[in-house]
Order: sequence, then structure tokens, then C-alpha cells
Amino acid sequence: MKQERKPAWLKVRPQGGPKAARIEKWHRDHGLHSVCRSAACPNQGECWSRGTATFMILGEFCTRDCAFCNVAHGKPLPPEPEEPAKVAAALAELELRHAVITSVTRDDLADGGASVFAAVVGEIRRAAPSCRVELLIPDLGGNPRALQRILSAGPDILGHNLETVPRLYPQVRSAADYRRSLELLARVRDTYPAIPVKSGLMLGMGESRRELTEAMNDLAEAGCRLLTVGQYLRPTGNHYPVHRYVPPEEFDEIKKEGLKIGFAHVEAGPLVRSSYHAEEQFKEVVDAEKR
Ligand code: SF4
Repeated sequence: MKQERKPAWLKVRPQGGPKAARIEKWHRDHGLHSVCRSAACPNQGECWSRGTATFMILGEFCTRDCAFCNVAHGKPLPPEPEEPAKVAAALAELELRHAVITSVTRDDLADGGASVFAAVVGEIRRAAPSCRVELLIPDLGGNPRALQRILSAGPDILGHNLETVPRLYPQVRSAADYRRSLELLARVRDTYPAIPVKSGLMLGMGESRRELTEAMNDLAEAGCRLLTVGQYLRPTGNHYPVHRYVPPEEFDEIKKEGLKIGFAHVEAGPLVRSSYHAEEQFKEVVDAEKR
């Protein structure tokens, strides 16, 4: 499939400022991983200057190999015992208001890395009590005890991305399972109803509008309150091809449709990523609960 030229609406004006510069320097000094960096996220400057950033724990090698993802695939190293404290210390030093913690998938670990996620939340509560903690977790192989281990640590938001529609799973994320991901989200709603549930979808992978609507309804039925919808961008020529660049006005329609379906907040746009405007999203869902 011939790769279309990127449309103008995907061109990003780099943003910086003192806060972004501090986070940039901190990355160099502390050698911790951030998705902002490894995914070459177009919103890096804007998010960092707002005091939000996304950190990746549990190493840089994923046990899966999703066709859209730029994360390295391979045999992961054992978890670093001091990583939770290191992440927390860095957040405290950076005075972040809202931190998103995510990870590669660790099918090699019995609990999928759940105990490390729980430890990170605990350490952040101690070192940076004013920092909100949002977790974006893998599917943990559908292990309910592992999920409870994470939830019992009390994150402010629990996210798990559905990424795309079920028909495309075999090509796009072959080791994942659409129903398993929905079950994980529903289990959060059923066991910890006070923790807002969040998920994300990428467009332009060949999904139809009807399939997208069905996926949004499935997410809402699973108790998802926050939804992000963005444009899939191909990291390299070896990754899954972009089928279509979805225009901004279509994202606006999708946002309206999502709010009608019942999400408390829908962040939809060509450059939207899971953590984009994460803090604002949280505030909206909390305000919505009060209404
Ligand atoms: S499981 Fe997550 S980190 Fe691993 S390849 Fe897939 S999207 Fe990337």
C-alpha cells in the first residue's frame, strides 16, 4: 500500500519552555524510560510544559510484537528492585502534577508485573503525595488476581487500551484478545467503582465507522468513562501501514458520538495519545461524577 504523504494537520509545532527542558534534562540524567521519548510522541513538548509525562516501567523489551508499536520486542531483563523508588524520586524532583505510568507487556512474569505497578503507586504516594497517578496497564494475560493487586494500591485512574476493532486484532495485535481487554475494564468497574476507567483507540488502520461505533459501545458497556481517539502513525516502514489519515472534523464527530454514548470525557483528534491532556480528562470525569 503506497504510503500517503502526511496531511498538514499532522504537522506539529515543537513546544518547549523551562518545564519541558527540565524533563528533557532529567531523562538524560536519570536514564529512566518514557513513552513520550520511545514513541517519539508529537505532543511531548506540550505535555511536559504542562507538568504531565508518561513513564515506562518494567524495562524496554516487550514479550509481544504488535504490528503498530515501536517498542523493542525481545527477552526482557528481570524487574529492577529499585525502579519504583527511582520513578517516585524523579516525579517528586520534577514536581509533576499528573504522572502516567505504563509498561511493556511482561508475559514472562507470573503476575504480568502487577506487583511492580503496585509498588510504584505506593512509592509515589510517599515521595510525591500531591502527584496524581494514572496507570496504563497491559492485559496481564487476563489474570484477575494480578489486576486486584494493582487496584488495591489505589491508582487515581486505571487505563487499558483496546487500540482497535476486533476484526483487525489478528494483524495489528495478534497476542491480545478483544474480549479479554473488555473483561479487564469491566472488572475494574465491578470491583473498584471509585477508580475511573480509561481506554484508547487508534484510527486509520482500516476500521469502518460502524466498527468504531461498536467498539465505543463495547467500551461504555464495560464501564469505561474516559476515551482517547487518535490517528495511528506508522513508526517505520516495517510497521503496519496507515490505511487512512482521518480529518480533524471527523474526530469532532466521533467526540460528539462518544459523549452521546455516555463517556464522561472523549479526547479525540489526529494527535491525541492516551496521556494527552490526561490531567484535564481526569478533572472532567471527577466533575461529571459530582453533577
Ligand atoms: S504489548 Fe504494548 S508495548 Fe508490547 S508491542 Fe504491543 S503495544 Fe507495544
